[in-house]
Amino acid sequence: MVPGSREQQEKCIFCRIARREESNDILFEDKNLVAFRDIHPAASEHILVISKAHIPSLYSLMPNPEDIQLVEDMIAVGTELLSGTPPAERKFGFHYPPFNSYVTAHQLLDRLRKDVKPNAVSM
Ligand SMILES: [Zn+2]
Repeated sequence: MVPGSREQQEKCIFCRIARREESNDILFEDKNLVAFRDIHPAASEHILVISKAHIPSLYSLMPNPEDIQLVEDMIAVGTELLSGTPPAERKFGFHYPPFNSYVTAHQLLDRLRKDVKPNAVSM
């Protein structure tokens, strides 16, 4: 992952939530991830799972085992938190600027995995 600058991390709303400088209800936390409800939910359950490390954009994620594991862990946490929602009604994805484009988590994983040598990732 290509990290953002210190200034970006100071201003970033998600980093502020991860540092608990905002008053969101944290649903899950471990050493790498934090999960909480979206303040503008687009569904009855709209949960954001974010990395504690500032990720400036999806293009900052690299096709390496660490970043693939990070995305897989985000999906696992989201799946657990949405265990009460039928699987067919769950959507996992990433919005990214400048046009609020949307990529599903699995499309992103496919893109990252495509460039990794098969023996570099333990499946
Ligand atoms: Zn951030």
